[in-house]
Amino acid sequence: MPNPTQSTSIALRVIPREQHTISRKDISANALRVLYRLREGGFDAYLVGGAVRDLLVGGHPKDFDVATSATPEEVKHLFRNCRLIGRRFRLAHVVFGREIIEVATFRANSDDGSGDRQVHDDGRLLRDNVYGSIEDDAVRRDFTANALYYTVEDFSVRDYVGGFEDVNNRVLKLIGDPETRYREDPVRMLRAIRFAAKLGFRIDEGTAEPIARLAPLLREAAPARLFEDCLKLFLSGHAEASFEGLERYGLLSALFPDTAAALAANRSGALRRMVIAGLRNTDARVRADEPVSPAFLFALLLWPAYCRALMALQSQGVHLTEAQRRAADRVTVHQLDSIALPRRFSLPMQEIWLMQARLSQARSGQRQRKRVMRTLSHPRFRAAFDFLILRQAASDDHADDVAFWRDAQQDPDNAIAMHPTEPDEAEGEGAAAPGRKRRRRRRKPAGHAESAAE
Ligand code: ATP
Ligand code: MG
Repeated sequence: MPNPTQSTSIALRVIPREQHTISRKDISANALRVLYRLREGGFDAYLVGGAVRDLLVGGHPKDFDVATSATPEEVKHLFRNCRLIGRRFRLAHVVFGREIIEVATFRANSDDGSGDRQVHDDGRLLRDNVYGSIEDDAVRRDFTANALYYTVEDFSVRDYVGGFEDVNNRVLKLIGDPETRYREDPVRMLRAIRFAAKLGFRIDEGTAEPIARLAPLLREAAPARLFEDCLKLFLSGHAEASFEGLERYGLLSALFPDTAAALAANRSGALRRMVIAGLRNTDARVRADEPVSPAFLFALLLWPAYCRALMALQSQGVHLTEAQRRAADRVTVHQLDSIALPRRFSLPMQEIWLMQARLSQARSGQRQRKRVMRTLSHPRFRAAFDFLILRQAASDDHADDVAFWRDAQQDPDNAIAMHPTEPDEAEGEGAAAPGRKRRRRRRKPAGHAESAAE
């Protein structure tokens, strides 16, 4: 099947300084130092990848990568503050205090179809890595927007694959035949969603088309790598757009199968509203430079799956406390198949879930001082309370609980006096179920665990 992007032709286009917006003042002084030193040493050296792309769209790169004709050993020879890393493909890290400039020798993927393909232990299909020319280096990159080279020789941008025009048109396009490139490295599908979300680019038709079809390949990717990529998708200020992109291109069910199933079964849409509200909140926190935690993020992303598992167990007659514990374990263990969520995050994630019941139990005849104090001093209280606020915002439920715990943090005794418990709500599983509305109120499906089972 002919593909419009299949024949990415290699033709150098030089974009002179006056035709682009990259200014030296926006480039890290250390990166410039590396570029000049390499050139003085007689080597070619370029700023490359995400930094050039981000600068062209007016963004602030978080790191600056350099590509050069110098070998790692030659780089090390030029910089005292340099260490070589990597075994299979060596990279030079030039260290300036907390800033590291990564310097990579031009690389070629010698794929002449002669076989000898190897699968890397993180699931990527590897073509042999060997040093190459700048042209080789350009075409082995993923997207055209990521394959632009900036030089301090004349401050021009060098473009071998049409990336400059694609950036101007705000389109994300894979270099080469998309299906081949996804098969080589399925994580590129996630990278497409991530860059589109981050940059507000549209995904080129040919680049988008295979994604839904090849989504199952993501299961072959290394779970540890997928965890890292999830953090980049959701903790970099564009979580909402990332989530919508995953849904739109059929990748949500590859990454979070249980959540995708729970969302599909939740006809009221309340669970999705809760997730979106939480992701929007995460984005706002990133913008405000407030801390965000992987535990909270995964508690949010897997909440639909947890609610659904809990409902299923309860409908089998499992007692609430036991059902909560089993639902949390089941969802966590199942998720570990695809994403390696480290225990230091999965344990607090589960605590956030289990505390939801405790936070609502307090309003059901259990608002005793001792219990309240114990809950307040729980290390996960703050996160669990923030989670409850999200549930309230997404469902209009739990307003009393939120008010009580807000007051209790100021003055527990006063809060207990001000929010008397209601005798008809003695500890029953109804009050303890996450999202379960109190009986005396009219039922509304929004945000309810039980609606997940619909
Ligand atoms: P950001 O750092 O903002 O997430 P980036 O473009 O710098 O974006 P990195 O993952 O840091 O992304 O990779 C640096 C560069 O290496 C990319 O711009 C791209 O040219 C190349 N690259 C990274 N991952 C791949 C891949 N899986 N396949 C091909 N090229 C890749
Ligand atoms: Mg980068």
